[in-house]
Formats: sequence, structure tokens, C-alpha cells
Amino acid sequence: ELGRVFAGEGYELHLVGGPVRDAVLRRRVSDLDFTTDARPEATEAILRGCCQTVWTTGADFGTIGGLFRGEQVEVTTFRADAYDRVGRNPIVRYGDSLEDDLQRRDFTVNAMAVSVPGHEFCDPFGGLGDIARRTIRTPAAPESSFADDPLRMLRAARFAAQLGFAVEPATLDAMRRMAPELSRITAERIRDEFVKLMLAPDPVVGLRLLVDTGLAAQFLPELPDLRMEIDEHAQHKDVYEHSLQVLRNAIALETDGPDLLLRIAALLHDIGKPETKEVAAGGGVSFHHHDVAGARLARRRMRELKFPKADVQAVSLLISLHLRFYGYGEGDEAGWTDSAVRRYVTDAGEQLDRLHVLVRSDCTTRNRRKAERLARDYDAFEERIARLRAAEDLRAV
Ligand code: ATP
Repeated sequence: ELGRVFAGEGYELHLVGGPVRDAVLRRRVSDLDFTTDARPEATEAILRGCCQTVWTTGADFGTIGGLFRGEQVEVTTFRADAYDRVGRNPIVRYGDSLEDDLQRRDFTVNAMAVSVPGHEFCDPFGGLGDIARRTIRTPAAPESSFADDPLRMLRAARFAAQLGFAVEPATLDAMRRMAPELSRITAERIRDEFVKLMLAPDPVVGLRLLVDTGLAAQFLPELPDLRMEIDEHAQHKDVYEHSLQVLRNAIALETDGPDLLLRIAALLHDIGKPETKEVAAGGGVSFHHHDVAGARLARRRMRELKFPKADVQAVSLLISLHLRFYGYGEGDEAGWTDSAVRRYVTDAGEQLDRLHVLVRSDCTTRNRRKAERLARDYDAFEERIARLRAAEDLRAV
């Protein structure tokens, strides 16, 4: 229908990017993104004539949004981006054709379009084949694509996590080589991609990519640092693998959809360990106050990434309480959490039900009294977060 309106005015309209990819994958299509040869002013005039609401917040990037018959649509003028390799944001330049527009897109699976109303399918870079092979690949040479916009490297990891795809070897190689270029990207853009990655069905896939390519070292160096040497201290678990497992446990326990802050806290709960590691004369390892150190490190990184204050506080508190994720499924190693505490909390049941989360994990936690105290800590924690949230909401208003 919208296509007919544009055609009536003499313009092309194509469904493009995410919705085409998701339709092919039979995933739920959320936003309808279109691309057109109409300039933003013309697009705005057309949408004003046929949409209930129109918004122009993206007009600087050539995007006009609207509510068309109850569906959210965004229409962007064909683009052919130019990049300022020193500066931090793409420079907007309009393209002459659909091909120009698809060429500047990040991955082949995102560079497909369907014309409306004609339903002509346009896939110049083999996106369909890459979907069949479950592969993330850049349309052009990956190195120059990442030089144009280094954020695409994070997006590759994000899509791998969201779609469960693998990154094609040449693209992956380029990510390894180009990882330091991420320093040209603003904290906000990095944060937004990191958040999307963390909210994916399996963030661990994306996190491994970030760590293995050296991208994580650029904005969250504590994560690769968790791979501290373990062999010489055989009794100590692998903190990196353990952290990823705790994240997966936390995800398995989500009942109300993805919980970003719990996921971040799960991933980072042990980041104070490398800094606080001490090897005793007999070869035993200790990590005194790694919860405090971890909370401090998490606060620092999250502030750098410009997370809202309440989010920084919530993650910091979760780490300092050193909450351990509870509800290990069958076959999970006992011993991650003191089993007596686990049993107590399972019995105490109801009050902790909504938490899914429990208590300190350090090995000295062995008794019921401590579990009780920690359960109280958690209530205090929830209250505090609720207050922080309310304060933040008020400020926003
Ligand atoms: P989601 O809506 O879940 O974030 P999406 O695929 O719609 O997924 P967006 O980030 O909204 O992703 O981007 C929309 C489209 O714009 C992408 O499909 C891609 O074609 C293009 N795109 C977005 N960011 C970039 C970028 N940095 N470089 C090149 N193309 C991009």
C-alpha cells in the first residue's frame, strides 16, 4: 500500500535490510525499514499525507518515520555513505540507486531488498546464500568495510549472537587485524551494540568473538583478562569459562524476558579476580575482596560506556553482593555454589522465587545464618534499585 503511494508520486520504494533478512529467516519482523529515491523532504510530505503520525528525528540521516495503518515504518533516502576516517560518525551522502544503497550496508544478509509494490527481489551480494550457509560476511572487502565504519566489527559479533550464524573466515581475520580501529567509535555507539549483543538469545557466541578477535580488549579489557593462567593452580576453576557459564545459567532462569543488568552482572561478577589474585606459599590462590574490586571495575567501564547511572549502580551492587545464580539444572557441577546454601535457599523457596539469584559464592559461605543475612541483603538491594530507578525516571521527566 505504501509502495503504491510512493509510486503514485513517481518514486521507488523498497523494503530493505533487517525485515527482509528476518522474513527470509522466518523470524518475527519488527520494524519496517524502506529505502527510496525520494529526498527526505519529499518523503516527509508523502508520509504526512498518509500516516497517522510522522517523526523526523532521523532526518539528518535521511530517515523519516511514520505510523502507517498502525505499523511503524521508516523510510530512508538511498544512501552512499562517505566516511571521515578520522572522525567518529559516518557522513551522510545520498546515493543514486538501490545498488548504491545496498553496497554501503554492513553484511550481505542485511543488503537485500524487495521492491514494493512490484515484489522484485534484489540481492546483489549473495545474502540469500549466506543465510542458507548461516554466515556473516561483508559485501565488499572486509578490511575496507571495517575501515569505513569500525562499529561493523561489533555488529558482526552481535548478529552472530542474534542469528546463531558464524562469521566467514576472511571477515573474521579482518576483525582481528582491525580491532584497534574500534577506538575511533563513540562510547554510545559501542554501548548500543554491546547491549544488543547481551540481549541476544545466546550472547556467549558473540562474547567469544569479541574476546577472540581482540575487540573486547578495546572497551572491556577485564573480560579477556579473565583468561588468567590456571594450569599452575590446578584447584582453581577457569574464571573466563566459569563467567560465561554463569551468564548462561542466569539466562536459563529468566522468566520475564531478557534482563540486561542481571546478564551484565553475571558476566562481570568475577572481574575483580585477576587484580586481587594472590598465590600463597603453598600454591593456594586467594582473591580477597574481589567482589569489591569487581564492582569498582564494572562501575568504571559502564560509566565510560555511558550507561545510565541507575544501571551502573545496579550492576555494581549485584557484583558487590556477589550474587550467584541459582537454579542449576541437572548435570551442572555442584560446587560452584556452596551446596548447603543452595539447599537452604531452595527450601526457603518462595521469598527468593522471584530473584532466581542467590547469595555469596565465596567458599566460606557455609551456613544457614549467612544465607539468611544475604537474602535480606537482596531485599535491601531490590529496594535500593527501585529507588534509584524512580529517581532516574523523575529526572528524565
Ligand atoms: P535490529 O533492528 O534488531 O537492530 P537491524 O538489522 O534492523 O536489526 P539496525 O541496526 O536497525 O539493524 O540497522 C538497519 C539496517 O541498516 C541494517 O540491516 C543494515 O543494512 C544497515 N546498517 C546499520 N548500521 C550499519 C552500519 N554501521 N554500516 C552499514 N550498514 C548499517
